[in-house]
Amino acid sequence: MTSTLNRLLETFARIGATPDGGVCRLTGTPEDGGARARLAAEIVSRQLGLLVDPIGNMFGVAALAPSSQEAVIVGSHLDSQPTGGRYDGVYGVLAGLLAVEAVAARAAAEPGKAKRNLVAANWTNEEGARFQPSLTGSSVFAGTLALDAALGLADGAGVTLGEALAAIGYRGTADLSLAPRRYVELHVEQGPLLEEKGVEIGIVIGCWAARKLSLVFHGEPSHTGPTRMARRRDALRAAARAIELHHCLVELGGSGAHASAARITVDPNSPNVTPCRVQVWFEFRHEDAAVAVALGDRFLAEARAAVASLGVDIEIAVDERRGTATLDPHGAALTAAVARELGFSAMEMKTIAGHDALALNKRMPASLIFVPSHNGLSHNPAEFTDEAALDKGLAVLTDVLWRMVTEE
Ligand SMILES: [Zn+2]
Repeated sequence: MTSTLNRLLETFARIGATPDGGVCRLTGTPEDGGARARLAAEIVSRQLGLLVDPIGNMFGVAALAPSSQEAVIVGSHLDSQPTGGRYDGVYGVLAGLLAVEAVAARAAAEPGKAKRNLVAANWTNEEGARFQPSLTGSSVFAGTLALDAALGLADGAGVTLGEALAAIGYRGTADLSLAPRRYVELHVEQGPLLEEKGVEIGIVIGCWAARKLSLVFHGEPSHTGPTRMARRRDALRAAARAIELHHCLVELGGSGAHASAARITVDPNSPNVTPCRVQVWFEFRHEDAAVAVALGDRFLAEARAAVASLGVDIEIAVDERRGTATLDPHGAALTAAVARELGFSAMEMKTIAGHDALALNKRMPASLIFVPSHNGLSHNPAEFTDEAALDKGLAVLTDVLWRMVTEE
C-alpha cells in the first residue's frame, strides 16, 4: 500500500516531468511555479499558515504554542537540476509538510506539551542551476546573502531572480517573524555509502569543504582556416589542458579529493573562429579544508604554466571557499535515539553535497538526515529510493521534530 508521502511524491514528479522519468524544475520557471502552487494548496489544506517571503521562500506555519515566539523549521527545496531526479529536495519538502501535520495532530491531542511552533519550508533556488550561487533562499534567510544581491542574480539570458520570481507570483512580501530555534532537513543521500553499508538512516554530522574556481581563459579570435597554427591563441585548447590537469591532480595525488569541471562557456562559439574567451567552473571537494585550498593553489599554478605556451592568460572570476562545518550535535543525538527506538539502523556520516541545512546552520543549529540513494545516483533521472526507505525517513523526522518542539 502506497503511503501519503509516496502518493504526493508521484504527484510532484509529474510537475516538470522529463520523458526519461526525471524532472526539470529550474527556479522561477513555470514548472517551479506549478510545484509551488501545488505545495501552497497542500499547506493551506492542512490548516497551516502560508507565508512567502521576499526571496520566494515558502513557509507553512503550525502555531502549536501561540505564546512562544520560537519555531523549529523543517524543509528542503522544490527546484531541481536540468537532469533532476524525483526525490532530490522535494522529498524533504513533502516529508517536512507531513511531519508538521503529524506533530500538529499529536500536539492537539496532548495539549500543553508543545513549547514552540513548527514551520515547514521550501527554500528558493537551492540547486543554483539557473541562478548562481546555489542555496540562495536559505542564505538570505540565514543573513549571509543580502536580499537585493540575491534578487539581482541573473540567469544566462539576463533575467534576474527577482523578475523570475515575480513572473510566477512568488516574490512575496511576508517575513517569518518567529525566531528559528533549530532546523532539520531530510534528504536522499545522493551518494553510495548508506546502500553499500546496508544502513537505513544517515545522521549527518558535518560537511566536506569545497573550493570553487571559475576561471576565464583569454585568447584571441582568428579565422580557423588561414591563421597559422603557431599564431593562434586558442582559449578552448588552453581550457582543455587545464581540465585534464585538474582531474589528474586528484586522480594521481592520492588525496581522496573529488574534482569536477562541469560548466563551460565558449566565446564566440562559432565553428570558424578560434575561441577567444572560455570560462570553466572547476571545483575541488575534500573532508579537510586545507587540502581543498592547497589543491586549488597547486592547480592554478600548474594551469598557468601549462597554458602559457599557448599565448593564453587565466583570469580568476570566482574563488569561493566553503569550509567544513559541524551540524547540530543535539539534533544528531536526537536522531540517533529516535532511529534506535524505531528499530532502524543508523550511522554518522558527512555530506559531500551542499544543502540548505549547511546555509541555515550559520544562523541556527541545523540537522540533516539521509536515506539511501540506489546506486548513489542523483542529479539523474534514474535517481531512486524505495518507498519503504522514504517512509522510514519520514518516521524518524516526525519523532525528531516532536522532541524538538516539546523539549525544554
Ligand atoms: Zn537537494
